[in-house]
Amino acid sequence: MRALRLPDWKSEPVFADVEEPVPGPGQVVVRIGGAGVCHSDLHLMHDFEAGQTPWGPPFTLGHENAGWVHALGQGVTGLETGQPVAVYGPWGCGSCRNCRLGIETYCENPAAAPAPGGGGGLGLDGGMADLMLVPHARHLVPLPDGLDPVVAAPLTDAGLTPYHAVRRSWPKLVPGSTAVVIGIGGLGHLALQIIKATTAARVIAVDAREDALAHARELGADLALPSGPETASRIKDATRGVGADVVIDCVGNDATLALGAASGRQLGDLTIVGIGGGSLGVSFFAVPYELSVQTTYWGSRPELIEVLDLAARGLLHTTVTRFAFDDAPEAYRMLARGELTGRAVVTP
Ligand code: NAD
Ligand code: ZN
Repeated sequence: MRALRLPDWKSEPVFADVEEPVPGPGQVVVRIGGAGVCHSDLHLMHDFEAGQTPWGPPFTLGHENAGWVHALGQGVTGLETGQPVAVYGPWGCGSCRNCRLGIETYCENPAAAPAPGGGGGLGLDGGMADLMLVPHARHLVPLPDGLDPVVAAPLTDAGLTPYHAVRRSWPKLVPGSTAVVIGIGGLGHLALQIIKATTAARVIAVDAREDALAHARELGADLALPSGPETASRIKDATRGVGADVVIDCVGNDATLALGAASGRQLGDLTIVGIGGGSLGVSFFAVPYELSVQTTYWGSRPELIEVLDLAARGLLHTTVTRFAFDDAPEAYRMLARGELTGRAVVTP
């Protein structure tokens, strides 16, 4: 079968012929219905270097996947051929405390994980192909009725990652609070809806592109602001001078981290989701008192079930642009040029 693969660090993806996967004991092969085009893949192509992760190329891209069960390995129960499923992407050892809790992103025994800190499309073969090997049935979540794999695929990362970040800050997103989402692309357009659907906070969307801000307004943002030197003071103006309770930065460059620190309030949260390579100097007077700054990585298996539930009930809408398999490289080029709204999904 054909697959879109990352051949090496600092390189563009290429189509290659690979063997069709056959499931071993406990494993499942999924027929891909949709594979999301994530900005992280652009970082893999352009920014990552050998030694930065315990895994590396070559592998098939695509770490946001949903489709149908194609073949079950020996001993797999509870799934049926043809059943629609979402793939939980981070694959840990399965036996450590965090893996048992479903937080496979932070597996405590990475030496026993199939791709330590990674997963399908991140070190092991992902979903930019007809078929994808999933190393354990626990990594598959049955899709709720009515949820199309094309819509569900982005929910496994572009939905799950901000859901995890927002959920962490739920206690601060009380009525009267304000959340800021920076970067209204694949992750951000879902982040703002997740805040709307699960809390009573007001949402301020920030982006560098006017079309992304228009999209944010359509999705229910209370205020949509262009990023620039005035943004922090406009957020202060909109929050009685105190700043935002929670900032979710889905860009993560120097400018957005500085904006997050300047617009967050005392006792607030600044959560860095984007891996834009920026850094933030933290010193006693540089950030508001008791502003918690954290990074987050992807999310847990139980959280994926919750995200899919939100979507199945119509509380979360993935804005999707579909691309045929042959056009996957063009989808990445458009993502790099900032020409997409919401998420591009490749349908092999
Ligand atoms: P995307 O390209 O779809 O969206 C990024 C958005 O940010 C775009 O709308 C863009 O216009 C906007 N933007 C860029 N620079 C900006 C600036 N200076 N100010 C305001 N807005 C700006 O990307 P995505 O797929 O949503 O991914 C976002 C980031 O999250 C990437 O860095 C990606 O690698 C990272 N990511 C992290 C995790 C994690 O687990 N932490 C998971 C997935 C993706
Ligand atoms: Zn583990």
